[in-house]
Amino acid sequence: MPLTLSSERAKHKSGIKLGRVLVVEDEGLISETIALALTEEGYEVVTAADGRAALDLIHQLKEAESNGNGGMGLSLSQVCARSLDLIILDLMLPYINGLDLCRLIRREGISVPILMLSAKGSETDRVVGLEVGADDYLTKPFGIRELIARCRALLRRHHQFQVQPERPSIKYQDIALYPQECRITVRGEAVNFSPKEFKILELFMSYPRRVWSREQLLERIWGPDFIGDSKTVDVHIRWLREKLEVDPSSPTYLVTVRGFGYRFG
Ligand code: CA
Repeated sequence: MPLTLSSERAKHKSGIKLGRVLVVEDEGLISETIALALTEEGYEVVTAADGRAALDLIHQLKEAESNGNGGMGLSLSQVCARSLDLIILDLMLPYINGLDLCRLIRREGISVPILMLSAKGSETDRVVGLEVGADDYLTKPFGIRELIARCRALLRRHHQFQVQPERPSIKYQDIALYPQECRITVRGEAVNFSPKEFKILELFMSYPRRVWSREQLLERIWGPDFIGDSKTVDVHIRWLREKLEVDPSSPTYLVTVRGFGYRFG
């Protein structure tokens, strides 16, 4: 089977393991280079040489967790959340290509951040990659330092989002969101938001200036099983703007990024 698990649990100089990264790449040299660089940075690296091997590996992780202590009854998404911190996914892969694999992973409800790699660099590929649920996209050839920086940023954002319910408030200019109290104030005044609107705004405010496609928002807020139109997103954005913006017709908080989606701030 073309997959390997690094024999030694990599530790950062400080002795703290930074996280486990799954690298799915069929070009041996690239895969090795990435694995080496990430290991040196303190990450534990697991590699798979094609799409099928990657899926096998994800299912193996589930079995390993189920056989171990406390892994019983966990869903695949919960197992992945426990055992993987980041997936680096090449676009062109034998058996199952990167886009399909990304789609499959997200369909399983696995929310581990995904960095997509590709030799193609056109905007269409980038958009498609992000639409199927990748969090970031890097075009080959890339510098290893850039890859490491992107990985760090993705992990940081992901962890921030994970621990965010612990945060008493998320503030941006004159908007404050209190996750535990399900309360939002706009320019000092309490404003009522529906649960969906609250979730959307919480996501946006957790990632200021990050662009979200309609498909990504549908997936994160409505869930992977939602069958409906991406216009649903536009409608909710319109409602949010009416509550947030001084002038909803020229928004300054929820900004449209033409051809991509929406951004907060
Ligand atoms: Ca490839």
